[in-house]
Amino acid sequence: MSAKHLIDRPRKKLSPRFYRPDCKACPRLVEFLDSARTRHPDYACRPVPSFGGLGASLLIVGLAPGLHGANATGRPFTGDHAGILLYQTLHKFGFSSAPDSHPGDDLVLKNCAVTNAVKCLPPENKPIASEVNTCRPFLVEELGTVPEGGVILALGKLAHDSVVRALGMRVSEVTFGHASEYRVSGGRTLLSSYHCSRYNTQTGRLTGEMFESVFSRVRELLG
Ligand code: SF4
Repeated sequence: MSAKHLIDRPRKKLSPRFYRPDCKACPRLVEFLDSARTRHPDYACRPVPSFGGLGASLLIVGLAPGLHGANATGRPFTGDHAGILLYQTLHKFGFSSAPDSHPGDDLVLKNCAVTNAVKCLPPENKPIASEVNTCRPFLVEELGTVPEGGVILALGKLAHDSVVRALGMRVSEVTFGHASEYRVSGGRTLLSSYHCSRYNTQTGRLTGEMFESVFSRVRELLG
């Protein structure tokens, strides 16, 4: 685990905005969703809301919906490879009622919620900076529900950086690394991990052991 830094002085405050299922603020993503809907009429193809109860002590922030995953099912990290390790680990550490997530199941997250920094499917899983910025007020709203003593777990650098900006801090001061840890506003902790994507898990960049080590720290922090 990297050294812990104390950075609890936001430099600027961003305005929150409640999630809107009809948001069309990013023209490129709206167009891409339209084309995905034509190719996959049975997919959700809309901004994907958080899953689990906001206000939980643990908020997990990923990148964006995947075409055949959250974009299809309407639930973050559900339907494709990225959710396999995440939901297994959540269950192992007592944050979920089952080790996997499927559309229409009765999975319950326990004191935990999962969301994405960008709510709409981006081409090639790569939102551009203006899209991350435009979607950030939704993230600000979600982050604002994490109580004192809570943990924000960012999966991947893009999510980490967007959380840092959403909290009014500078990414040059709050740098991303696997298992990096920072104290942030409201007596909360920002932990980060390599993203549990298919690429990262199949290349060994992120192993199950590495991911569980981060969740062990989450448990320590939450007591
Ligand atoms: S990515 Fe976010 S801001 Fe952009 S259209 Fe989707 S929900 Fe709206």
